[in-house]
Amino acid sequence: MQETTATRLADIRRRMAEAAHEAGRAASDVTLIAVSKTFGAEAILPAIEARQRVFGENRVQEAKAKWPALRERYADLELHLIGPLQTNKVREAVALFDVIHTLDREKLARVLAEEMERTGRRPRLLVQVNTGEESQKAGVAPDAAVALVALCRERYGLTIEGLMCIPPVEEAPAPHFAFLAKLGGELGLRWLSMGMSADFETAIRFGATHIRVGSAIFGDRG
Ligand SMILES: *Cc1c(COP(=O)(O)O)cnc(C)c1O
Repeated sequence: MQETTATRLADIRRRMAEAAHEAGRAASDVTLIAVSKTFGAEAILPAIEARQRVFGENRVQEAKAKWPALRERYADLELHLIGPLQTNKVREAVALFDVIHTLDREKLARVLAEEMERTGRRPRLLVQVNTGEESQKAGVAPDAAVALVALCRERYGLTIEGLMCIPPVEEAPAPHFAFLAKLGGELGLRWLSMGMSADFETAIRFGATHIRVGSAIFGDRG
């Protein structure tokens, strides 16, 4: 059978359901975020036609260039920001995204809270944790995560839905997923955004509620 976006999506959904079943979880507890960064509308439309509704982008400018037109055609799309957010892009991000996975510092919490207050738009928020403590990677340091979530809640009145992580590429992801799940439990958070094309089944085993899958759906980004 020839592989298309639709057949690849069907395959991912089947593997998600299997991994959830094996973990004693309901398949409906895990949301598939189709990561469409670098791909244009012509690549995204077949996924929408295959009933995919939740998409992820890592850059605000790129998302702004492609999604408003698609959202006009399909009212029920949900858009997630999964890449780093600079404070000077907060206005555009709050206007465009339904969920922001990359809150990782106090200044960003403050600017997000101000913009959400100003506009009344309330994207859901996750705190990104740099579980591998990689200097080049975004995310709050693991030992500062509890304090950041408390600041978000108490000083800025923000509701934090969950945690997100991107394990180091050269390490086994399972310990990172286990750590994030434990931290989320301690903080009373419902959502865990973890797992990508190469490791989403492992992430589901460790409690992922949102997996972020790009190349396994859309192909290599080249
Ligand atoms: C690109 C990206 C993904 C998807 O990666 P794939 O390996 O293509 O599935 C997931 N999460 C983040 C934060 C990304 O930037």
